[in-house]
Order: sequence, then C-alpha cells, then structure tokens
Amino acid sequence: MKKGKKLYEGKAKIIYATNDKNLVIQYFKDDATAFNNQKKTTIEGKGVLNNRISEHILSNLSQIGIKNHLVKRLNMREQIIKLVEIIPIEFIVRNVATGSITKRLGIEDGTVLKEPLIEYCLKDDKLGDPLISEEHILAFDWALKTEIDKVKKMILRINDFMIGMFRGVGIKLIDFKLEFGRIKIDGKNEVILADEISPDTCRLWDSITEKKLDKDRFRKDLGDLIPAYTEVAKRLGILHEQSNVSAVNVTKLSSVKRKKK
Ligand code: UDP
Repeated sequence: MKKGKKLYEGKAKIIYATNDKNLVIQYFKDDATAFNNQKKTTIEGKGVLNNRISEHILSNLSQIGIKNHLVKRLNMREQIIKLVEIIPIEFIVRNVATGSITKRLGIEDGTVLKEPLIEYCLKDDKLGDPLISEEHILAFDWALKTEIDKVKKMILRINDFMIGMFRGVGIKLIDFKLEFGRIKIDGKNEVILADEISPDTCRLWDSITEKKLDKDRFRKDLGDLIPAYTEVAKRLGILHEQSNVSAVNVTKLSSVKRKKK
C-alpha cells in the first residue's frame, strides 16, 4: 500500500490517498481543539492512543455486524479505511445529560435520560455545527429518510454495545458523537459508520468516582489528558504497562527527530 497525497486535513486527523482508489489512510494527529477551534493545543501521544482505541472499538463493532470504514491499523498513528462520502451530520448520542444540552435546555448536569437521545448537528465549523432536526435534514437533502432510519437503528445498537463494553471496565458512557458515510458495496449503496470513536469523541466517566476520562480534561482544564486516555486503553485491554510506555516514548522520539531536522 503506497501513501499518496494529502486529500484532507481536519482538526484531529489527516486523510491521504493510496494507490487503491477505494482506500485512504487516516492519520491521527496530536492536535486538540475545543469550542469550535477557539481553544487549541498539541498533546503529545494523543493521536497514538486514539488510533488504538478507535481501532479496538470499530473492530469490535464490526464483529457484531456494524459495518464501518476500518480496514486495518497500519502503525502507531495510521489506519487504512474505506473511502466514503461523509454525510454532513454529527450524530450525538446521549445517555446522561451534560455539556451543551444542559446549557441549551437548562437541564441539571448528570441527569440520567430515560432513553438514549439522538441529536443532529450540521457539520459546518463556520456555523459552529448548529443543532438541526430530522426535518431540516430532509428539507435540505443532507440525507435521505431511508439513510436516517438505517443510521438510527445502527446508533442504538452501537450505543447498547458500547455501554456494555465500557460498563465491563468500570466506565460510564455518558455521550458520544458518530459520523456515517456513503459507499457502494457490490454495486449497492450503503451507509456505514466512519470517522473515529475515542475519548476525543465520547464522554467517559469512571463508574465509581465519576472522574472524567475524556476530552473534557482539556476542554475544562481538569489536568493531564494522556494518563486518562491511557487508563481507558488499559482498561479496554489494549495497552499493557510496557507497551503504553513505549507508545508514548516512540511518539516523543519521533518528535525529537523531527525537531532536529
Ligand atoms: N462531540 C464531538 N465533536 C463535536 C461535538 C461534540 O466529538 O464536534 C462529542 C463530545 O465529545 C461529547 C458529545 O459529542 O462526547 C456531546 O457533545 P456536546 O454537544 O455536549 O458538546 P460540547 O459540550 O463539547 O460543546
């Protein structure tokens, strides 16, 4: 697999072409942004952890029949993924109310929802990813009704699976963001899960202490983010003491090399 030119650079990832027109390489950066890019920094090792955690979750989802774009992880920071046409909507799934919804609707932080709540936001940084309704999606042709119906079914299965997976390792899945993409499989149009699922895109609280193990550590200046993401990876059984240390050290080494050039 040959890495080609950069096709797209987002806030946390870069997409590169490959010599196969249906596949691209997704590179996880160390950049962290919040509040629509107003708060920015680089957190060494974050990309390595998100690459591993997202690979773990997406390959587990694949095993329960949730089709997704992951083909395989290539190395510490890169994975081969199927090229999809991203549906321009962020699907937010909430089990417990926190973050923007508490401010928007005056809901008490930590309120447990009776049922998972799906919210839709238009993927548009310039507009600040505004909240939209299903009617907006249909009115402006951002997705078809059939696509939304399929996505909603997938979301509820993904949520059930992820709640169980995290509960098993002492973590509460509070909310998360998903993205989906269109792809032709055997000549048939399909909608599959895309992007990433990681502590950058989920809120994860320790089941007992409610310690935040996700990007809120950065958003709210709660202290180091890497130990929290490492904790998530270790609990999921992805990293062991040894490999964790080497993961971050390799990142440090490669950045030292870059600086010396
Ligand atoms: N989220 C995300 N990317 C976004 C917006 C939200 O990954 O551009 C995730 C966020 O990490 C959280 C969930 O979606 O797990 C709900 O976020 P919320 O709407 O509460 O936004 P915030 O409080 O971050 O403004």
